[in-house]
Amino acid sequence: MKILVILLMFTVLIGCQSTGNPVDEQFVTIVIKHTEPEVWTANYKLTKPVAKLFFSRDQNVFRHKFFKFANSDFMIKIENGKEIVIRKDGSKFEEFKFSFTPYTDFLKQDYEFSLPFSDSSYAIYTGHFSVRTEHHDKIKEQFHIVPLKKEKLVFDGKSFKEQQIWVPKGDMESTYIYFGNAAPTESAQLGLLMDPGIPKWLKNSADKALPKIFELFGDEFQYTPDPTPFVIASAGDMNKDKVSRIGGGSAPGWVHFNISGKGWKKPSKDLEERFIYVIAHEGMHQFQGRANKDYLREGWLMEGSADYFSQWAMYKLGQITLSRLKEKISKSANQCVSILEEDPYILGNPSKNSNYTATYACGRVLHEAIHMVIAKKDPKGMISLWKKLYEKAKSNNGYFIPKSYFEILKEMGIKGSYINAAHEFIYSKQGNPRESIKNLFDMSGLKYKLRSPKNKEKGQQFIVL
Ligand SMILES: [Zn+2]
Repeated sequence: MKILVILLMFTVLIGCQSTGNPVDEQFVTIVIKHTEPEVWTANYKLTKPVAKLFFSRDQNVFRHKFFKFANSDFMIKIENGKEIVIRKDGSKFEEFKFSFTPYTDFLKQDYEFSLPFSDSSYAIYTGHFSVRTEHHDKIKEQFHIVPLKKEKLVFDGKSFKEQQIWVPKGDMESTYIYFGNAAPTESAQLGLLMDPGIPKWLKNSADKALPKIFELFGDEFQYTPDPTPFVIASAGDMNKDKVSRIGGGSAPGWVHFNISGKGWKKPSKDLEERFIYVIAHEGMHQFQGRANKDYLREGWLMEGSADYFSQWAMYKLGQITLSRLKEKISKSANQCVSILEEDPYILGNPSKNSNYTATYACGRVLHEAIHMVIAKKDPKGMISLWKKLYEKAKSNNGYFIPKSYFEILKEMGIKGSYINAAHEFIYSKQGNPRESIKNLFDMSGLKYKLRSPKNKEKGQQFIVL
């Protein structure tokens, strides 16, 4: 069976950082109204006129394809690869309106515009409507969300029968708004909206695993995400042959994952493991504080720890055995070696085209080794380090600071040579990544052997014992 895991992603680069003072006086009200089964309108009202309006999330140029302005005086112009709303005659404006249909194409390094549900309902991402000024100032926004008659809205884990106002709050800058009739369930740990098209065996598995995973993270880290995470599970085309796809994403306040393909219909241990892994990985992102704008550089910390802790949680909750956990560590180590051999700077200094998988695999390996090093003094290992990262983040507006990782190790009394090895692994050129990982494993006391390569493998392969 062909199995694909696609798009595991956390909050991604917004593309530009604020360079000027916040424009406190500028404010936008965006009315998103569902008008027909697959048609919505968006009506923008600004408090001050502008000549150009930029979209805040600008990694992808896609809106001009399907945003249809009510007034033909307006258009979306592409300027230096960015989409801007302008009046054709260049004059200033305070208000405009367009209609749109669902857009489900893949967006590079960004969240899907709309998530399709199997009953033809959709969740729509507010972030793709957010706007900024020419000078990169974010404009404060308020969304008015209007459903069709007899349709419900679901966001922040709650269901509503009538139009609602949504504003960014706490760490949550944007969210998915669901328009349809699926009902969410709520628990202390999370709100969950499950597509009725998700096969029953998988639904049962998710119902059991999800709250346990979130509870475990909350208990161990003694951290309560604010707001309570809202998990959206959608099912795309479930009739695609011989495929079982799963992808997911998350940002503070929400997690989504989407499955598609016939493969999911038949219960299997392997599929269940993949499914729980995606939930646990994306779920872990809810316990990482706020995401920095320079996310690519921090992937080793954020994605690496999401992989480390999701696999730890799966083992702890009995979803995988110890030998399976070891297989996963071995796989990450070998994957890390092969990517670093191609791109020796990717961990500390990735480029936009870097193979981002390295941050998951190499970060995961580093955290495993560091856990074992800390555990010689403190059995909680990485969990203790993680709790201290929250403490340090408090003085940085909730954002994790990568260098805190090394500072905390020092404060915990870890040997300087070990801290240097960890630091070099991330920030120095990796001329011989296999040796670097051997070094990390040796200092941690993790037992392993190296075996000869098979088939297309390049060089000796780690096997964690
Ligand atoms: Zn992730």
